[in-house]
Formats: sequence, C-alpha cells, structure tokens
Amino acid sequence: MKKLMLVIMAMVAAVALVCAGCGGGEKKAAAPKEKVMRVACEPTFAPFEFQKEGSKQFDGFDMDLIRAVGKQAGYKVEISNMGFDALIPALQAGNIDVACSGMTITDERKKAVDFSAPYYTSGLIILVNKDNDSIKSLADLKGKSIAVQIGTTGEKKGRSVEGAKIKAFNANTEAVMELQNKGVDAVINDAPVVGYYLAQGGAKVAKTVGSVMEAEEYGIAVKKGNKQLLDDINKALAELKKNGEYEKIYKTWFGETAKK
Ligand code: GLN
Repeated sequence: MKKLMLVIMAMVAAVALVCAGCGGGEKKAAAPKEKVMRVACEPTFAPFEFQKEGSKQFDGFDMDLIRAVGKQAGYKVEISNMGFDALIPALQAGNIDVACSGMTITDERKKAVDFSAPYYTSGLIILVNKDNDSIKSLADLKGKSIAVQIGTTGEKKGRSVEGAKIKAFNANTEAVMELQNKGVDAVINDAPVVGYYLAQGGAKVAKTVGSVMEAEEYGIAVKKGNKQLLDDINKALAELKKNGEYEKIYKTWFGETAKK
C-alpha cells in the first residue's frame, strides 16, 4: 500500500513538472496586432496634400483618400512628411510603407517601386507672371529660367527644354514664390495644383499659358514586391470607387464629379 502511494505521488509530481514546463498555458492568446500603414507625402501640393498654416494635420484629396483606403483595408494610417525626392528611397529602405503624394506613374519610377491602379488624371502646365506676354508655350521657354520641384515630372519637363536654366526647389510653394519674386520666368507644375493656387488668390499675380501637357496618372506607391499591401490598396480603391466614397472625396476637393 505504501509502495502504491509512493508511485501515485511520483506520478502526480511528474505531471506537475510536465505542466510547469508547458508554461503560459493559462495566458490568453495575444490580441491580433493592428496593422499599421506608414504613409508619407510632400505636403506643399494643395489640394492633394498640404498643412494649413500653423497646423500639423495633413489635409487634401490624397490624404482623405489614403485614410479611406486604410480604413477600408483594415490599417491604422500614420502620415508623415518628407521631400518629394526622398519618397522613393524611403520606400526602398522600408522606412515607410506607402507614398501617397500626387506621384505620377512613370516607367522610370516603376523600375524602383510598385504603383496602385491610377487614382487621378493630371498633367503639367506652365505658370508665368501675369504681366508676361512673351511666353505662350513650352517652345517659348527656350533659354528661359524655370522653377520646378526637385524630383518631379515638372523638373524632367523643364530639363528637356533647350537652353533653359532650371532652378529646382524642395517645395512647390518655393518654386511659385521664386516666380512671384521674378527670380524665374516660369514654373512647370501639375495643372490641378496650379489651378488651386490661382483660385486661392494667385490669379492676382500669375496666369497659366498653353494647355495641359500630356496626361499623367497618379498612383499610390509601395515598396517593390510588397504584393500583399498593393493588393489591399487596390481592392480598397476599387471598393471606394464602387461605394461612392471616392466620388465624395473627389467632390470635397474639386467641387465636381470625377472624370470617368
Ligand atoms: N506629379 C508630379 C510628379 O509625380 C509632381 C508631384 C508632386 O510634386 N508632389 O512628379
């Protein structure tokens, strides 16, 4: 009998030991971590991305759109700002997940990053001072000085003009300021941004010349090969277009319905 007791006690002790080894058996499963989407933009590009004076809040069409995309796809969206030419390197380095910054989908950029389906059709235009009567088209910019934003399609276009002197700025607002100060003859920038600037009072001092150059499509960029995130973004974009949310955001910033 005593022997049996000893055997039972040994068995109980063994089971206890094994259980202790299991450790954490009683802990609740960790709550699933919220997915975070680290977004960056260059916020001198109203009405797509900008910060109202004295505010840290990111406003604009792109900002509303990416927040809606994140919500739809189940991500917490965190937005930060950086220079336009820093966006693609930041994606490549994995410092951000998404660049949403009025970025034109180009073949060159497609080699470096992946783009979502296009979400906005844009194009470049020339801005000059109101009293300038000599510049009427791109051809007239030959040998003239042009302000652009670093790393943009506007910079590329400016550099394609024979003999033109290019002044490249970190911010779009600086390029426009340079024109106002008569430091350059023209600015080349995206037409909707120029249009917004003119509507916000810029028309008192400046005007556009010629028509919008070839169409450019904006895309949301992710690190090359980040298929999961790209799929999530594309699915969300499609859903927002279907459920009317995209249209609502478009109307907020452009006052009209999106061109189909
Ligand atoms: N759409 C232009 C480009 O991609 C300009 C973008 C911008 O200045 N934010 O180069």
